[in-house]
Amino acid sequence: MKTTIKTAFLIILPFLLIALAYIFFTKTDTMSKSQLDIVRMSPYAVFCIGAAISWKFNHSRKFFTFILLTLCLSFITGLSQSLGLYIKTEDAYSIICLAIPVNIGLFSFFKERGILSLWGLSRLGFIAAQFIVSYWLIGSGQREFLDLINKNLVPVNLHSITSVPQIPIIAFLITFIILVFRQISVKSSQDISFIGVLFALFYVLHDNSHPMLYPIFFAVSGVILIISILQDSYLMAFSDELTGLPSRRALKQDMMKLGFNYSIAMLDIDFFKKFNDTYGHDTGDDVLKLVASTIKDVTGGGKSFRYGGEEFTILFPGKSISDVLPHLEELREKISKKGFTLRSKGKTQNKQKRRTQSSKPSKQIYITVSIGVSQRSEKCKTPDTVMKAADKALYRAKKKGRNCVSK
Ligand code: GH3
Ligand code: MG
Ligand code: MG
Repeated sequence: MKTTIKTAFLIILPFLLIALAYIFFTKTDTMSKSQLDIVRMSPYAVFCIGAAISWKFNHSRKFFTFILLTLCLSFITGLSQSLGLYIKTEDAYSIICLAIPVNIGLFSFFKERGILSLWGLSRLGFIAAQFIVSYWLIGSGQREFLDLINKNLVPVNLHSITSVPQIPIIAFLITFIILVFRQISVKSSQDISFIGVLFALFYVLHDNSHPMLYPIFFAVSGVILIISILQDSYLMAFSDELTGLPSRRALKQDMMKLGFNYSIAMLDIDFFKKFNDTYGHDTGDDVLKLVASTIKDVTGGGKSFRYGGEEFTILFPGKSISDVLPHLEELREKISKKGFTLRSKGKTQNKQKRRTQSSKPSKQIYITVSIGVSQRSEKCKTPDTVMKAADKALYRAKKKGRNCVSK
């Protein structure tokens, strides 16, 4: 439930920021000239910070987007003119309407291959080349490409609804579909942030009614990207990549927040080494994910963590052993009854095994866990000592024959 609310918040956050940007825009009427100058330059400051952070955190897709946004904004707001490069505003508008969705769509196919690598530099070259060619097209008076952008593919006049030409609208739609598809299949905060950016930039190009809209909506696009880099880095640091459970680092932090009454349980999958040896490490990983998803839903107010390997920890703040024992028993039983269907073309490690396995029909495998639990007491006063006691209890559970809870 808590994670659903968190996920929903992460999804609406970019749109919330866009709404705030619009409210801010409505206030610009009453601003002084110097304040407006600051607003006009603010996106460039955001892009510089964003580019530096994405460089540091190795988010090349976002780094390229910051470069793209910088070039597009300077192109459309006439900053290039002040640098001595003359471009017609309508031409710049048409090019940007197409460049934004096409590039954002293309970037979503880019694999993380660094910025200063050969891959990264060639991608940067590709972005720069588009703008050099655009300057050349406009400067040399070659209108074929520019006229093509404004060409109507469908005999419908959309001019009364939006100033964005038809071909860029189609490009925006295709990119939007790609990003939504990726968001559903990959479920990363990366794509929702790009959907937000696409939405903000489409809005500004569609409205196109006030020069102040551009810096504000470009700046908010940069802020959305920076927030998503920070979110991703937080996730990387505090959640376990394989199972999605909070990691050991998160456990250490939560252990420091425990009060004077709590219980800690340690869980360990039984005979997991044998399982890996029989079915292969990849199948072992799948089983770990399945077991973790059950452990995550532990009842009784527990919060689960992946301690490491095939071991998990559950913290029960404010609970005694007698409070949590029935919930741990329930969890142990649930795991032992949850069959894991082995795919007939199993991912075993050697060819010999794979051959014998693929001839067999898919079969159900059952996994069990042993659990040790301890609570804060006069003997165990700190979370570390309670955890050590839970570990000893786990050892006793293993000795008792496994698939049981010991205290
Ligand atoms: P016991 O019932 O006594 O716990 O036996 P066990 O085999 O589970 O314990 P042991 O500590 O000997 O082996 C743990 C195994 O867990 C070793 C390793 O192959 C496996 N393992 C640890 N982490 C991972 C992982 O991330 N993925 C996979 N597939 N296996 C893992
Ligand atoms: Mg172990
Ligand atoms: Mg084990």
